[in-house]
Amino acid sequence: MSPCQHLATVTNGPKPPGGCRACLAKGDTWVHLRWCLTCGEIGCCNESKNRHASRHAAATGHPVARSREPEEMWAWCYPDEDFVDLEGPEIWG
Ligand SMILES: [Zn+2]
Ligand SMILES: [Zn+2]
Ligand SMILES: [Zn+2]
Repeated sequence: MSPCQHLATVTNGPKPPGGCRACLAKGDTWVHLRWCLTCGEIGCCNESKNRHASRHAAATGHPVARSREPEEMWAWCYPDEDFVDLEGPEIWG
């Protein structure tokens, strides 16, 4: 399998604070959080009922969302529909 080509198009910033903004606006809850590595938007995972991270990716075309859970070093690539391991590339430190 070839490595994800979309990682080269995004930047890894510091973990953003807060929860899923769309859920908070509605008073909803979530299971896990992801954050968009293109624009920094925080969304909830697909186990959450609102799936805001997926909906954000579909609406914007932003390809990669990283897990915001503690100690988790992976991201999900929507175009590839696969996990991306972030521990390898040194830019993801
Ligand atoms: Zn990819
Ligand atoms: Zn949400
Ligand atoms: Zn985004």
